[in-house]
Amino acid sequence: MTALESPTTMHEALVHEHSAHNYHPLPVVVADAEGAWVTDVEGRRLLDCLAGYSALNFGHRHPALVAAAHHQLDRVTLTSRAFGNDQLGPFCAELAALLGKQMVLPMNTGAEAVESGIKVARKWGYEVKGVPADRARIVVMADGFHGRTTTIVGFSTDPDARAGFGPFTPGFDVVPYGNAHALAAAMTPETVAVLVEPVQGEAGVVVPAPEFLPAVRRICDAHGALMIADEVQSGLGRTGHLLATRGAGTDADVYLLGKALGGGILPLSAVVADADVLGVLRPGQHGSTFGGNPLACAVGRAVIDLLADGRLLARAGALGSHLREGLDELVGRGVVAVRTAGLWAGVDVDPRLGDGRAVSEAMARRGVLVKDTHGSTVRLSPPLVVGSDELDLAVDALRGALSELDA
Ligand SMILES: *Cc1c(COP(=O)(O)O)cnc(C)c1O
Repeated sequence: MTALESPTTMHEALVHEHSAHNYHPLPVVVADAEGAWVTDVEGRRLLDCLAGYSALNFGHRHPALVAAAHHQLDRVTLTSRAFGNDQLGPFCAELAALLGKQMVLPMNTGAEAVESGIKVARKWGYEVKGVPADRARIVVMADGFHGRTTTIVGFSTDPDARAGFGPFTPGFDVVPYGNAHALAAAMTPETVAVLVEPVQGEAGVVVPAPEFLPAVRRICDAHGALMIADEVQSGLGRTGHLLATRGAGTDADVYLLGKALGGGILPLSAVVADADVLGVLRPGQHGSTFGGNPLACAVGRAVIDLLADGRLLARAGALGSHLREGLDELVGRGVVAVRTAGLWAGVDVDPRLGDGRAVSEAMARRGVLVKDTHGSTVRLSPPLVVGSDELDLAVDALRGALSELDA
């Protein structure tokens, strides 16, 4: 069989012909998966060190999550919110308890959680803070990532994400990430919220100085604004903490969750806050056909169960240190800088060796899946169920890829 006729190229041709070209995937076509490993259509086994951008924090097809999904598939999958279902109440109560907040607004994708958080913050601004109608402002961070809807890309600073999609929703002020002085200067009496990623994932796992998030909290308090933490990617164990914000020793008013909340099985996101904030929504003012559906809630409850005893979090923290040690050994040997937060790493490769894409392709040839971001950065976010020996494989693959590119 020639390369042209390989199962991979056949699948790629079909996707190229009939799927919108909004992605440029690595040349790997997955057929099945278990735990930290995927098998592609050629029968190759690859270690998944992207884990669906943290949607697969518990690995592929975690038995407890698959069992919860199967069980619910045999009962009821969708009711719409026109009626109740017996999974919604327990899911919201259990998620609220896990985070120590009072209320949950269930949605589907991360972008919807962000959009919902924006709507709730504006309404809170008018009804509770007393901002004049249509004047609410929200401060966001440069280089952030919050999803792909029109409002969200409107305040993105990434030209690829914005260009060609205007006109955009007004009411957002952008400040540099990690700069508390700039944030304080941007606050106005009409500022209703500050939207922040506790670690900027898509930007390349950018971890702010330890004093930054506590400073955001103080600035929000001083100006009567809500602190909204977008923990869609950083939350639910990725950093070795339930919430990266709490790991930084502070607390947000509003948490946005997604990705791992659906256990890698289906989309499930949530806005989590106290009743004085989420209570501003009344019937008819917000909703979603699929939000809070019993299948997603049943899987979400199983996710909460996996996180509740803290063992996976501790494991992610310990394995994160192990990964960090391995990656640090490559600094000066093709790696310029390493940033980590728990089991999450951004690795800046010497641009003379190649861009992040070239490194990711070379690692895939060595059986390890990672994803490039912005130029010469590769990002690793293996599932929290990965083993330390498997992390060593990933570091070895990176070392091998770098020396291949150096040749
Ligand atoms: C992925 C992500 C989103 C968007 O989630 P989708 O499910 O892709 O809409 C929002 N915020 C952050 C921080 C993310 O990483």
